[in-house]
Amino acid sequence: MPFTSHADFLSATLACTKTDFPARSTLTQLRLTWHGPGILELTPHALAQNADQVLISAGIHGNETAPVEVLNAILNDIIAGRLMLKVRLLAILGHPEALQRGERYLDYDMNRLFAGAHRQHAQAREAARAAELEHAAERFFATSPASARRLHYDLHTAIRDSVFEKFAIVPFMHQRACDSEQLAWLAGCDVEAILLHSAPAATFSYHTSFHCHASAFTLELGKAQPFGQNDLSRFSGIAQGLRQLLAAQAPKLAACPPLFRAKYNLVKHSEAFRLNLDAQVENFTLLPDGYLIAEDGATRYVAQGGEERILFPNPGVKPGLRAGIVIEPVAA
Ligand SMILES: [Zn+2]
Repeated sequence: MPFTSHADFLSATLACTKTDFPARSTLTQLRLTWHGPGILELTPHALAQNADQVLISAGIHGNETAPVEVLNAILNDIIAGRLMLKVRLLAILGHPEALQRGERYLDYDMNRLFAGAHRQHAQAREAARAAELEHAAERFFATSPASARRLHYDLHTAIRDSVFEKFAIVPFMHQRACDSEQLAWLAGCDVEAILLHSAPAATFSYHTSFHCHASAFTLELGKAQPFGQNDLSRFSGIAQGLRQLLAAQAPKLAACPPLFRAKYNLVKHSEAFRLNLDAQVENFTLLPDGYLIAEDGATRYVAQGGEERILFPNPGVKPGLRAGIVIEPVAA
C-alpha cells in the first residue's frame, strides 16, 4: 500500500513487506522518509536550528496496542495538518509481524535484544529487526545537531495491573545525570512513579541512552489489550504531553513522582524456582520485611525491609533469565 495522506502509518506498516515501501514523499509542511517498515522520519520544512530531536517508538511488544494507537493518531494528525510538527521526529512501530498476530513476540522478547544482544540470539526472528531499529535510531541521532535535545520515549503497556498504573523506567545512566525537567514533564503526562535502573540492560531505551546520548525512557502506560479494546481516554495524559512536545508548545510540568531504584533481579536459576506471590500480584506491591519472595533450590530471596516492592514478576521465564525485580524507594 502506498503511504499517502489517506493511508495511516499503522495500516501502511502492517501492509508493507520489507522491500515494498515508498522511500520518500513531500507534503506541504513536511518531508516523510521511510527508512524501513514501521520506521518513518518526519522533518518539517521550516525547522528551528535547535529543535528537539524526538524518537517515539511503540509496538516493540506486538500485544501492546494502545501506545501504537496513540502514536498512529498523532501521526495522522501531523500528516493531515491538524498538528503542526515543530521538531524532527522519528516514529517507530517496533514489531509489525507480532502486531499483526497480536502476540508479544514470535521467538524472543525483542526488548531483551538491543545494545548488541541480538548477536547472541541471531536465530530469533526478532534479532534482525532489533539490529535494524538500533541502526535507525543511531542514524537519526547521529544527524542531529549537537546542541539539540535528544529524546526517546519507548511506549509500552504491562502484562499485569500495577499499584502505579503509569510509570517510567530510566535506563542505567552510568556517569550521566538524569534530566530532572524530563521527570517533571513525565509527571505532567500523568506518570505516577519513576524507576531508576541500576545496571545496563538490553532494552531499546538503554541502547539510545547509552549509544545515542538521548534522554530515553521506557514508559509503561497501563495494561495490554488487543486492538479495538483500548480505552484511549486512559492514555490522554501522555498523548497530550507528546502533542505539546511535538508542537513545541510550553510543557505542562508537575512535581516529580515517587522515585524507585532497582535493587536486584530475582533470577530463575532452575525449574525448581518458586515465586511466593499470587499469580495476579500487581506491579509495585509492597513486600513486608522478612517475607520469603521466592526460592530456587537452596537460594532464598527474602525481603530486607526498607519498603521493598516487586516489579515485573514472571516465574514462567526460561532458567537463566530474570523472573522479577526487587525495587526500593530513593529520596528525590
Ligand atoms: Zn512492553
